[in-house]
Amino acid sequence: MPEGNEIHRWAERHFAAFGGRAVRVDGPQGRFRDSAVIDGRKLERVMAVGKHLGYDFGKDRILHVHLGLQGDFTEGSGPLPEVRGALRLRMWNAAKVKLPAGPDASKPHRWYSEDDGTENLAPEKIAWVELRGPMDCSIYTQEMWDALLERLGPDPLNGDGPEKFVARVAKSRKTIGELLMDQSVAAGVGNILRAELLYRARQSPFTPGREVAEKTLRSIWKDAGVLMKAAMVDRRIVTTRPKDRPHKKGQALKEEAHYVYRRQGRPCFVCGTKILTKVMAGRNLFWCPIDQAA
Ligand SMILES: [Zn+2]
Repeated sequence: MPEGNEIHRWAERHFAAFGGRAVRVDGPQGRFRDSAVIDGRKLERVMAVGKHLGYDFGKDRILHVHLGLQGDFTEGSGPLPEVRGALRLRMWNAAKVKLPAGPDASKPHRWYSEDDGTENLAPEKIAWVELRGPMDCSIYTQEMWDALLERLGPDPLNGDGPEKFVARVAKSRKTIGELLMDQSVAAGVGNILRAELLYRARQSPFTPGREVAEKTLRSIWKDAGVLMKAAMVDRRIVTTRPKDRPHKKGQALKEEAHYVYRRQGRPCFVCGTKILTKVMAGRNLFWCPIDQAA
């Protein structure tokens, strides 16, 4: 599941590609039936909050997209590709799809943290975008969008300060590991960031929220913003510091990008202890039992 950095990155890219002009939209698969509501209208802005995208085509015409676990975008230059697979939605620029495709015409994305961004299209070259497998793709009214904002917690990428986050964690008996996955506590934080933020703070995932030091919560919030902003440049969340990597020079290798995420059974880069895993809040949690002792 993409985390907030990815969602904010799509919002910026898609606005750079399509914003301020009329956009063509359709739903080839037949599950998105409301394309006529927005097709041919001007895309005024693309909003991102937590894991939600909102393509604003004017009042009460907001295309809401939540990628969920499976959803992803494909993008390209040149003519629209033939319709293939469960294609929920296509968005394109009518003039740009008449141009010939370049050598980088279309590229399926590699999965998060495996893409170093070097082969990505420049946003201004994007002529079309395809959406497959989202959890939601539907038209929201302004009222629905506002209700969503009401439900969601603060988002580190929207300039929200730590106050709400700290307040919500500090009154909860739930563990900090559970709370970090709760979108009403911290919108946009996902499973990679949960594991890595807690490791970087040397915080046990099993401590109840109300027992975590406020200073630690503030530093987790700040760190979330730093890591997520860095990850917007490409699609890669790199959390290891160069001094902690087996290869201290150059770009982080794929297997050295994270301290604990998906490193169960392997030695901690810092203390050498085996990283552990356990399901918490429906997703696999990873932690170092020494550096993050309860
Ligand atoms: Zn360790």
